[in-house]
Amino acid sequence: MARIAIVTGGTRGIGEAISLTLQEQGFTVAANYGGNIEAAKAFTARTGIPSYRWDVGDHEACIHNCNDIAAELGPIDVVVNNAGITRDGVLHKMSFDDWNEVMRINLGGCFNMAKATFPGMRERGWGRIVNIGSINGQAGQYGQVNYAAAKSGIHGFTKALAQEGAKFGVTVNAIAPGYVDTDMVAAVPAPVLEKIVAKIPVGRLAQANEIARGVTFFTSEDAGFVTGSTMSINGGQHMY
Ligand code: NAD
Repeated sequence: MARIAIVTGGTRGIGEAISLTLQEQGFTVAANYGGNIEAAKAFTARTGIPSYRWDVGDHEACIHNCNDIAAELGPIDVVVNNAGITRDGVLHKMSFDDWNEVMRINLGGCFNMAKATFPGMRERGWGRIVNIGSINGQAGQYGQVNYAAAKSGIHGFTKALAQEGAKFGVTVNAIAPGYVDTDMVAAVPAPVLEKIVAKIPVGRLAQANEIARGVTFFTSEDAGFVTGSTMSINGGQHMY
């Protein structure tokens, strides 16, 4: 029987590429999303992958939606914590709300989804959790104390939960993408983006499916000995 995978923020950008790649690998995929209902409907019509709207920063919503998906599709074997937002600004101008919202969704979402699914994986003796961090969580970035802290937190969260899952066949890994050609990066002003690309040794942005291939590896049967690890996919921009 096909294994069941949930991808948060799985209907567009990197998440869409991850949902499609997991589907190609034979997983039954459920894609969560946060906002645009029409775009999610179009994604489901295009791919056949059901989409479910809830806020991953909302603890109770994660618990009951994961329970509903498990009742509908079967026990959840794989979670990819991909949903994320930016609320950039230098610290002296950043509001508490901008700080809190990024922590709540980007880091809190990983906790909420793990609470909803890790105990079942542990009981069944198999599971894969992949958390999408960021180069900016490894290296820091001007104007992103909230985002860099949340992403850096994801890397610590990954290593700690990996230790808890190891004896139970549950691996927990992270991917730290560099700059990827998605809506999130399209929001960066062009002159800033030009300077960023100039610092990428490969000389271009990543394509979303180049990040998704890393997820394919971590979620495979073959990767059972790989846990607590961070895969940097950044065109050589930061060698960590
Ligand atoms: P995107 O903005 O294109 O998509 C983000 C997805 O997250 C959307 O599907 C959105 O619906 C979902 N989302 C946002 N808030 C949510 C919430 N509260 N609850 C549920 N879903 C929510 O972003 P992207 O560029 O595809 O980025 C995906 C992930 O990769 C993010 O975690 C981002 O931080 C990370 N990342 C992106 C880049 C990049 O260059 N694009 C680089 C490093 C890391």
